[in-house]
Amino acid sequence: MQQQTISGRVQALAASQTLAMSQKSSELRSRGIDVINLSVGEPDFHTPAHIKEAAVRAIDDNFTFYTPVPGYMSLRKAVSDKLRTENGVDFAPEQIVVGSGAKHALTNVILATVNPGDEVLIPVPAWVSYMEIVKLAEGVPVTVFTGIEQNFKITPGQLREALTERTRAVLLCSPSNPTGSIYSREELAALVEVLAERPDVLVISDEIYEHIKYTAEPYTSMASFPELEGRVAIINGVSKAYAMTGWRIGYCALPLHLAKAVTKLQGQMTSGVSSIAQKAAEAAYNGPQECVEEMRRAFERRRDLVVELASQIPGLKVNKPDGAFYLFPEVSAYLGKRFGDKVIATDSDLAMYLLEEAHVALVAGSAFCAPGYIRLSYAASDDQLREAFRRIAAALAKLV
Ligand code: PMP
Ligand code: GLU
Repeated sequence: MQQQTISGRVQALAASQTLAMSQKSSELRSRGIDVINLSVGEPDFHTPAHIKEAAVRAIDDNFTFYTPVPGYMSLRKAVSDKLRTENGVDFAPEQIVVGSGAKHALTNVILATVNPGDEVLIPVPAWVSYMEIVKLAEGVPVTVFTGIEQNFKITPGQLREALTERTRAVLLCSPSNPTGSIYSREELAALVEVLAERPDVLVISDEIYEHIKYTAEPYTSMASFPELEGRVAIINGVSKAYAMTGWRIGYCALPLHLAKAVTKLQGQMTSGVSSIAQKAAEAAYNGPQECVEEMRRAFERRRDLVVELASQIPGLKVNKPDGAFYLFPEVSAYLGKRFGDKVIATDSDLAMYLLEEAHVALVAGSAFCAPGYIRLSYAASDDQLREAFRRIAAALAKLV
């Protein structure tokens, strides 16, 4: 049988390594191997009961028809209210477009704004999908490396240097996946000063981890800077804050003309998002918020635990993440070492070695454009985390 050709667009796309690693760990588990999965980043909590109940009610109340393309007005209003009360930013409900997860919301924004050859500036380490989504739009991801010694944050000087006349957008993420770094308001203000010189550049701000934060300073949304008025696209959603990864609800908050463009795109691609999941998300935003704080506290405790455990392993360079639920140690001390006749040359080799030898699944830093690092998600129980670090330490000690 003749195989059909795959488009260049998809051939050029790298598979999501976070999802691939998680898949690999499930496969090993189904073969009876006791793998601890610290690869995929998702809360290990169940969705709070009042949110699940809203979804059941939505089914009973026959919310079963096509929804408006940009989402139910009631949900867009709930998001608009959330943005005003929590973030102090004004986006009318008409400026909100609900997508199938924040990943889809971001894809919508990139596809609606990036022309072939346009550059999108991405400080790295950055989440695996940013670079690929930009490539899908035939844009050029321009990465700017920020290492552990600068706490993985881009400086105003680096930003200024990387901007070119082809820069169409800058894509920022705070708290960051994969590093957990958070830009303070002062640090953001310094970046805004540079961005203010380029009113043609769209600032895409991925704020999905805003609630998973361990610093005292209140969260600063990029859209709260008056200098950037009318040119910030916020990406956010319920996946992380409300433990709702499987419901697939995210949104973008945009200048009105972009919201209209994204709606046109979505109308031809997905028609909109599941009616039931939208009703659940509405309950998340309008309902009690204690569940968010409870989960945040659990993540903070685990952050302290993994920083302590990782710091005890010789050779790992560890920073103390301010948010999200990832640890991003630098592992170059172990690269070039051997296990038997196998050389661990790269961070990918090390991730594979730790999967095979320690039965701990994690993700190689190179997936996030940061070779020489690894990412562990600490959205797991204390017992799992202790056992994972015990195994990692033992496996690393075998390398010579
Ligand atoms: N942005 C970042 C930085 C993420 O880590 C994730 C989760 N993978 C997303 C966006 C997408 O989240 P969602 O599950 O809502 O698509
Ligand atoms: N945020 C998660 C991660 O980075 C989810 C998986 C994905 O969508 O990439 O692992």
